[in-house]
Amino acid sequence: MRYVETAVIGQGLAGTAIAWHLANRGREFVLIDEGGFGSSSQIAAGLVTPITGARHVESWAWEKAFPLASQFYMNCEQVTQSRFWKVESAIRLFVSKEERERFDNRYQSDMSGSYSNSLIGSKARFETEVEQSKWRSAVQANYGGFVMPQAARLLTADFLKASRDHFDSTNRICAASINTSTDIAIERDVVTLKSVDIQCKQIVVCEGHSALQNPMFQPIELVPAQGDILTVRIPDLKLDRVLHAGCWIAPVMIDGSYDESLYHVGSTYRWAPLNGVPNEESLSILSDKLRSFIKLPFEVIDHRAAIRPAGFDHKPLLGNHPNYSNLWILNGLGAKGVLLAPWCAEMLINAMLLHQPIDIELAWNRKRKK
Ligand SMILES: Cc1cc2nc3c(=O)[nH]c(=O)nc-3n(C[C@H](O)[C@H](O)[C@H](O)COP(=O)(O)OP(=O)(O)OC[C@H]3O[C@@H](n4cnc5c(N)ncnc54)[C@H](O)[C@@H]3O)c2cc1C
Repeated sequence: MRYVETAVIGQGLAGTAIAWHLANRGREFVLIDEGGFGSSSQIAAGLVTPITGARHVESWAWEKAFPLASQFYMNCEQVTQSRFWKVESAIRLFVSKEERERFDNRYQSDMSGSYSNSLIGSKARFETEVEQSKWRSAVQANYGGFVMPQAARLLTADFLKASRDHFDSTNRICAASINTSTDIAIERDVVTLKSVDIQCKQIVVCEGHSALQNPMFQPIELVPAQGDILTVRIPDLKLDRVLHAGCWIAPVMIDGSYDESLYHVGSTYRWAPLNGVPNEESLSILSDKLRSFIKLPFEVIDHRAAIRPAGFDHKPLLGNHPNYSNLWILNGLGAKGVLLAPWCAEMLINAMLLHQPIDIELAWNRKRKK
């Protein structure tokens, strides 16, 4: 039987962030994952933007989470000698006159707030950047738009692989599927994972949407949403950044550089069926949206889908089990896993190792207000 201080179950963005925080503090752990490349973290586009949605809402916890995420991924790049994090501006095109007016009203009324801080100079910059771009004539920008100067992108599959390889080189990876109903024996000071012959002081479960089947953390108000993402070929587009316009289009990156003709396009939200199978209706929704602002023909060369683990109120779900001090959970990262995983993982590790409180707003067992 192998003994480690902490076992982390699930190597998506959540479990990987937990593992890095433990590693950075010199703690002993094993990261267990069942493998496969269909998880939400594996197929995510990795976009990080300060403003989201049709109503231009500021991403929740942006001011705290973004600097931390940026530092965190840069540090992981340095340790693994890999490239998967890119900070660069993104562009949002308005899809209608109404949307532009909505933005103008909000932007004008919030000039001193954090919302506008991330957009300073963005309207003037939009005109200049579009004018100077190589893709100007291929993109429909009838209603204008704005630049998000502070935005970023994580190549999630590359980050997960570099992290796995790094931890594997020091024997901290275990490829296995843990049956959370039958595999886990909990005693006062020790948790035994029977099928993998591991004993530990504590476990952190980061299973994504599978948490709904975990009997230890129930009831949990997880509302998973399936998302589809396309890879398309558009040889003459020459897009050099992420554009948002009802959907987003992001140049495919290989070894830190943009591919000349391939783009990811996404993504959709569906609450049923949740099966991880690419959906025909989603293909047609994304294709129509893409056609509405990209004037060039495109060829769909890949179509994938996965299930996002989202909290009922779009906020993460984390913390300790009420009866077992050695059981912890991090979940509910929703559509913001890249931004929120490093910050939430740090909060959880501080609670686990240093007994610091977790924001009650994020407690995994919080309930909807009636
Ligand atoms: C189409 C799409 C696009 C997205 N785009 C973005 C984006 O641009 N930006 C962004 O920030 N977020 C994006 N997301 C959301 C992001 O993917 C999620 O927030 C994030 O991946 C959730 O990470 P997680 O680790 O909680 O869960 P998951 O990614 O689901 O990872 C869970 C891991 O645990 C493993 N596992 C589960 N149960 C067990 C078990 N019992 N034993 C062993 N292993 C187990 C699974 O194999 C998996 O590897 C997107 C999601 C989708 C679907």
